[in-house]
Amino acid sequence: TVQPIESAIELVKGKKTLKDYEAMKLMEIYGIRTPKWGIAESVEEAQRVADSIGYPVVMKISPDEPVHKTEMKGVVVNVEKDQVKDVYSQLSKITKRVMIQEQLNGLEVYIGGIRDPVFGHVVLVGSGGIYVEVLKNVAYGLSPIYEDEAQELLMESKIHAMLTARKRGYDENSLIRTIISVSRMIVDLNIREMDINPLFVNERGAFAVDVRIVFD
Ligand code: ADP
Ligand code: MG
Repeated sequence: TVQPIESAIELVKGKKTLKDYEAMKLMEIYGIRTPKWGIAESVEEAQRVADSIGYPVVMKISPDEPVHKTEMKGVVVNVEKDQVKDVYSQLSKITKRVMIQEQLNGLEVYIGGIRDPVFGHVVLVGSGGIYVEVLKNVAYGLSPIYEDEAQELLMESKIHAMLTARKRGYDENSLIRTIISVSRMIVDLNIREMDINPLFVNERGAFAVDVRIVFD
């Protein structure tokens, strides 16, 4: 059997960035869960994929290069069965390829990775979502990160407090495992820059919803 790391190297070989569906596959290779997802390039396919995921779904443009999809009006949440056709028509004017995802609930967390010329690979953890730039509660750790340090990052960034507020029972261990996996992935694949934004954390686990990866 192929070791996970070999299939990851195969997937990223020669690429400058990953397309959304490639990034989702890379997450899965590293044991990071994703929402149920599929790609559609026609109305019929969109209907079929959305039916197999279950409603409501989230539909979003699937560009070849990472872009800020919300800014391009390229993300539609809460899509019900009778809306799939219209939403596909609307989004396919921007990109023919559309990603359809299971709609998740939970806390939106940001996990980033950068390669710093001085410090080497660094992992960033903070609040996620479309306001990540304004929230500024990011904590930093150097790769490789192990459990104790991952826990510290969650304390420092206040994510621990947000996860445990109001007895939500969100799965903090899954988040810790995800941070450790990202810290390993950026070194393994010599990633220049990546973001998971958001990673949804809920009672079922941690799920990478939107992933951007840049190589040299
Ligand atoms: P971008 O960051 O390029 O604008 P995202 O895929 O991150 O696009 O989507 C923007 C926002 O839409 C997310 O921060 C989240 O609030 C919401 N969203 C996107 N996908 C999902 C999903 N599968 N389930 C629930 N909410 C989602
Ligand atoms: Mg995003």
